[in-house]
Amino acid sequence: MIAEESGAGGARGGATPAVAVVGSLNVDRVVPVRELPAPGATVIGTGASRLGPGGKGANQAAAAAAASGRPGAVVMVGAVGDDDGADLCLDDLAGRGVDTSRVRRVARVSTGLATVVLDDASQNLIVVDPGANAGLTPDDVRCDEVRDAAVVLLQLEVPTAAVLAAAAHATGEVVLNPAPSPGPDDVGELLAAADVLVPNRGELADLVGEPEASGVDGVVAQVRALPFDGVVVVTMGADGALVVAETVEHVEAPRVAAVDTTGAGDCFCGALAVGLAEGTPLLEAVRAAVRAAAESVTRPGAR
Ligand code: ADP
Repeated sequence: MIAEESGAGGARGGATPAVAVVGSLNVDRVVPVRELPAPGATVIGTGASRLGPGGKGANQAAAAAAASGRPGAVVMVGAVGDDDGADLCLDDLAGRGVDTSRVRRVARVSTGLATVVLDDASQNLIVVDPGANAGLTPDDVRCDEVRDAAVVLLQLEVPTAAVLAAAAHATGEVVLNPAPSPGPDDVGELLAAADVLVPNRGELADLVGEPEASGVDGVVAQVRALPFDGVVVVTMGADGALVVAETVEHVEAPRVAAVDTTGAGDCFCGALAVGLAEGTPLLEAVRAAVRAAAESVTRPGAR
């Protein structure tokens, strides 16, 4: 592709990172309106629009860094453009102790942008322009950090070829959050690449090509229908999470006053990856991730 320079650096722990997150970095532009526009219509915003760092990959890296508490324990592997949005994304992660030296800055390309138009009733319209995320290549992810991390954490807002290359290069455990849902042609290869799969109920239903299941039994039946023999952890919103391995364990979420559930799944994935990387037994790591994600929904914002 185009000329490039290396990433900003951020915190470097010196030691091998515990968790390598391979995925997207976006700028989130939130535009509050009274009412969503119909096609072709123009509406005036409330004047409270804001810009912030986002992207599933970066959100999960931020959550992992918070769960770990050790600067440099988490490395972000991804791509940004050469605009102000890139600085917003990288500075935020670096400020949270994430090593950003494996985020490639791509010349003459925009950083990924998610525009969220949000009305008074919390309904939204979202447009995601992948920008530099679409240019993440298999070569970008074949780095020592991905090879050596105890856990490589993957989602699907970057090209499937890069996701598969990262899984193939990893020597540690591969945790896949299949979000956004993959196309049917990619499902088999992606599942074969993962050790631990972390879908929410909607993503699980998409993977098996069925409507969303209601109740624990329906979710377990969908997990058993997957062509996958690793561990599946299904997140279930206020119902916590279901761990389906040889046995099935339901981890209840604490009751909280939810203010904003955006990014709850990302918080869960980041916290779970750190627990697994630290050698915490699976069920205990899931309990900690459920607690962290439940706490995250009591505060506004995705991070
Ligand atoms: P996603 O954000 O991907 O849709 P979920 O809605 O399943 O994922 O939420 C992920 C995790 O966040 C849940 O497993 C749970 O731990 C926590 N969570 C989400 N919503 C709530 C809630 N209303 N109360 C308590 N915990 C919640």
